[in-house]
Amino acid sequence: PPLEQLYVHESVDNVIPKHDFVEAFDDLSIPVELVGDGREYEATDGVVSYVPRPEYLDAGWVHCARAGYDEFDTEAYEAAGIPLTNSSGIHGATVGEVAVGLMLSFARLLHLYRDHQGERAWYTPDYERPFTVENERLCVVGLGTIGEGIARRADALGMDVVGVRRSDDPVPGVSELFDPDELHDAVADARFVAIALPHTPATDGLFAEAEFDAMREDAYLVNVARGPIVDESALVSALESGAIAGAGADVFETEPLPESSPLWDMEEVIITPHKGSATNRYHLDIADLVKENVARYQDGEELRNRVA
Ligand code: NAD
Repeated sequence: PPLEQLYVHESVDNVIPKHDFVEAFDDLSIPVELVGDGREYEATDGVVSYVPRPEYLDAGWVHCARAGYDEFDTEAYEAAGIPLTNSSGIHGATVGEVAVGLMLSFARLLHLYRDHQGERAWYTPDYERPFTVENERLCVVGLGTIGEGIARRADALGMDVVGVRRSDDPVPGVSELFDPDELHDAVADARFVAIALPHTPATDGLFAEAEFDAMREDAYLVNVARGPIVDESALVSALESGAIAGAGADVFETEPLPESSPLWDMEEVIITPHKGSATNRYHLDIADLVKENVARYQDGEELRNRVA
């Protein structure tokens, strides 16, 4: 049956102002209502939510307001025959710019100058420290929307971009592709390694001691994907031992990053609070995706970004 109602679960407020989001559906053909927990759904309902809830399995279609849908039980959706879609495809610029910003900071030392600004200190770094990202090699691991977004921007800055991808379809701006089982070769010559993978059983803990050992000692890790893809205690050890030079991370095993984490105190670590996708038009970007899928659903077409 066609959809008669679209529900927006208030958990979307984690990333977008919920009322602005609902307003973005003013031109939708079906009514949109903001809801909390404890509601029952039926086959003519669509639901947009940031968090998974068991009752969504009675709806007609569920849209995850995030690109990373790892908290949703895809097998349960498949068993129930309920299509689940995600918000992939809209984070190339936002998360891509954060990744590039982190790399530029490590090269041009912006983070150190800002650290010293609080002390009104006219800081002079050692001569050897600053470098340019231009002509440095970046390895992007995972070349979906975000990976491509990083690669295109890095290419525009004159970086030598290589990547890790399961298929060998070419990617704009990427000069060489490696198979996932060649990860160590892929990262070996890179000054920067950027992770843009989803968190799955195959990527859980993918970056651990052996991977940091495979990286250059002057290399920086950038993780804008999901915390558990990196073994965080192995990362701390690698940074402490000098196996790698630094790390920029937007995501962590536990979020917010606990106050006790040694990462907070490290000069060559830049922590951003999982705000890689933040932008003042995020609600419109997600609403556009949802509207497109409402239209497809009503027309009986295949949904965009279907993940289960
Ligand atoms: P996407 O689906 O467009 O891209 C993921 C890519 O990874 C795909 O090309 C896929 O084929 C590839 N991939 C999957 N498993 C792989 C493996 N084992 N080896 C190599 N490649 C593999 O998703 P996206 O929009 O680029 O987002 C990627 C991830 O980033 C999301 O799953 C999410 O967890 C995270 N994310 C973080 C933020 C943030 O705020 N920091 C925002 C959005 C997404």
